[in-house]
Amino acid sequence: MLTPSLEDYLEEIYRLSLDPGFIRITDVAKRLDVSLPSVNKAVKILSEKGYLNYLPYRNINLTEKGKKTGQFLVYRNQMIQNFLQVIGSKADKVAEAEAIEHYLSRETINAITTVVKFFEENPAIQEKLIEYQKEKEGEELL
Ligand code: MN
Repeated sequence: MLTPSLEDYLEEIYRLSLDPGFIRITDVAKRLDVSLPSVNKAVKILSEKGYLNYLPYRNINLTEKGKKTGQFLVYRNQMIQNFLQVIGSKADKVAEAEAIEHYLSRETINAITTVVKFFEENPAIQEKLIEYQKEKEGEELL
């Protein structure tokens, strides 16, 4: 199990790994807007836990385990953003997904994915929901 913070590091390292070239500590620091020592510390723990290989002053290489988990973390983040879109949330979807992603069970992620896919495959029903939301707009719901 990874802490929310380590999940975010691994998620971002995986995103960086999709671009051609090397993954450097400085890239991770820039993308997450954190200090170099923070990245060093996180990378050391992720390396000890078998998610990546890293030697000081060298590039970062994800292991198979790191790739698999990283891919899941990126997918999970995207699914939650899509879900917030589907239910018509007017919140900052990127920020909200970033926060809640760490606290949902795998079961809930699966359920969210099914809802997202359902609306993708049934645009007419999505349209109905949007109309309903417009009707309710401005009403006190709670
Ligand atoms: Mn996050």
